Amino acid sequence: MELTKRQVHIVEIVKREGPITGRQIAEKLSLIRATLRPDLTLLTMTGILEARPRVGYFYSGKTPANLTAKAIRGIKVGDVKSVPAVIRNNATVYDAVVTMFLEDVGTLFVVKEGGYLDGVISRKDLLKIAMGGSDIYKMPIGVVMTRMPNLITTTPEEPVFLAAQKLSTREVDALPVVRVVEGKNGEEELEVVGRITKTTVTRVFVELGSGK
Ligand code: ADP
Repeated sequence: MELTKRQVHIVEIVKREGPITGRQIAEKLSLIRATLRPDLTLLTMTGILEARPRVGYFYSGKTPANLTAKAIRGIKVGDVKSVPAVIRNNATVYDAVVTMFLEDVGTLFVVKEGGYLDGVISRKDLLKIAMGGSDIYKMPIGVVMTRMPNLITTTPEEPVFLAAQKLSTREVDALPVVRVVEGKNGEEELEVVGRITKTTVTRVFVELGSGK
């Protein structure tokens, strides 16, 4: 959000002299109170200024940049995640190539019995194996995938901003969205409930930019 020159001026006055009444601000700007009303309404509605009856306006410390950051941090992975593309860990490398092609994704999440997360396999993992001349019709994907404890995951409750930070700093294209559940023998397992990719983050960015 961009403030007008006058709004910036009002914020400066309130920062310096608040609490201050609308009339006093108007006097300082050599304007009448009514002229300032739309500006003061906007500044209080956005939370930049706070108004207290019979006291006046004071500065909340919330800058437009802080407010934008707060709005972005409010978007949770669960709000924007997409459907995960999964494959069983006993499938072959060839199966993975076909699944990746048919599901139109760049990363597959590998699951074990019960549907719990076991690994991640990317396009480049498959290319690497194909280059090596292995028998892709026989080789199980378990041999090629990245597995626990090296998996980078996210949860539905995590802010999508933090998931995006993981995608960026760990240099991967996709994160499985998981929920910790108790397995058959009481052990901790990860149920795959979604997927966050660089495309998801791009979509969120575009939506924020278009004011949705
Ligand atoms: P690509 O290989 O198509 O460039 P990535 O950059 O996502 O795709 O993958 C790079 C490597 O990181 C691959 O070996 C892949 O198995 C691994 N990888 C991908 N996603 C994850 C993840 N969420 N957690 C851990 N490793 C991952």
